[in-house]
Amino acid sequence: MSNGKEKIAIIGAGLGGAVAGALLQHAGFEVNVYEQAPSFSRLGAGIHMGPNVLKIFERIGVDKKVISISSTPSHWFSRDGITGEYTARVPLVGYGQTYCTVHRGDLQAIQCDALQPGTLHFGKKLARLDDNGTDVLIEFEDGTSVRADIVIGADGINSRVRETLLGAEKPNYSGWVGHRALISSDKLKKYDLTFEDCVKWWGPDRHMMVYYTTARRDEYYYVTGVPHPAWEFDSAFVGSSRDEMAAAFKGYHPIIQALIESTDEVTKWPLFNRNPLPLWSKGRLVLLGDACHPMKPHMAQGAAMAIEDAAMLTRCLQETGINDFRTAFGLYETNRRDRATRVQSVSNANTFLLKQEDPAWVYGYDIYAEPLKSETAA
Ligand code: FAD
Repeated sequence: MSNGKEKIAIIGAGLGGAVAGALLQHAGFEVNVYEQAPSFSRLGAGIHMGPNVLKIFERIGVDKKVISISSTPSHWFSRDGITGEYTARVPLVGYGQTYCTVHRGDLQAIQCDALQPGTLHFGKKLARLDDNGTDVLIEFEDGTSVRADIVIGADGINSRVRETLLGAEKPNYSGWVGHRALISSDKLKKYDLTFEDCVKWWGPDRHMMVYYTTARRDEYYYVTGVPHPAWEFDSAFVGSSRDEMAAAFKGYHPIIQALIESTDEVTKWPLFNRNPLPLWSKGRLVLLGDACHPMKPHMAQGAAMAIEDAAMLTRCLQETGINDFRTAFGLYETNRRDRATRVQSVSNANTFLLKQEDPAWVYGYDIYAEPLKSETAA
């Protein structure tokens, strides 16, 4: 690791931080990314990446690579969880790029590979930041430290950078958990049922979102939203079971029963959120993604918002240059706050695409085609 003064330090190499690093490096900035994990593993989870994100992936040259490993559904179906009746058939084509559903670990590997060699540092858990007005001292839990001109907090919902700006405050537990399971498609062959590419099964107070995570469609994935009064565990997730799933979805459609029956391993994740923050940056520190506007994941746009943040922040820094980071941070917030807050509130309400509606405001959005609103015009 360089001991010299660096330009930009990003804390967290999650879905937002890695893309921010790659975009800023493509724009010519000197960037290092610090990630607490010792390495990334292929945890059992999928993710949607909409056309709004693929337009950004083009800029770092990974769009084709992501498409080549993803399932690319033509529609998002919404169905009644009990009767199977269709409540919406929403086309996912025609928004200027491809709609992908993919394995989260595979996506993260592609994003990290887009960083310049030697600029992603694993095992670096941020302990403390000191913005002394001239630069920022960044101290890690392993006792090492670096300095940077600006620091981007892409360190997720429990962000240490957010805590430095706004004080310690736990996120709000939403009262819901998400179960996640990957199922080998081979296991589904025995059923005389159709397993659609991308379908959300809706119940009155719970749902199950289901899709393929590979281009070969050999891995099918479900993620739920199920009420659960309190999160009583310290860890990010805990194991669940087929029995727990069967109890949660008793009486639901035969396709859901087939998925539960075919489940070998299932995990359970608490869904947290926060109210919109009073500020997104202070001095030389700025936030993006879940550090800034976490949401319940029901629109499948949380990571997308982190990646859009990364694109807009890069655009603003290119506009002003790094020395005028204050103007860049102001522009960034002005050009991101309304959209991120809107997505956050629709996602938390869990109403998106339940009924037939036009999702063009989400998927048709091209962050590079938007005129940059100035701070005072907002
Ligand atoms: P993260 O991806 O959480 O990354 C933060 C990174 O910072 C992590 O790698 C972490 O290890 C690191 N870090 C944390 N603290 C420190 C520290 N002190 N020092 C150094 N590193 C640190 N979004 C979608 O767009 N589509 C979906 O389909 C979707 N499905 C979801 C399903 C579920 C069940 C859940 C819970 C979320 C889902 N999301 C989805 C939301 C999405 O996962 C998040 O919005 C997204 O990961 C946020 O990206 P981020 O980069 O801000 O944070």
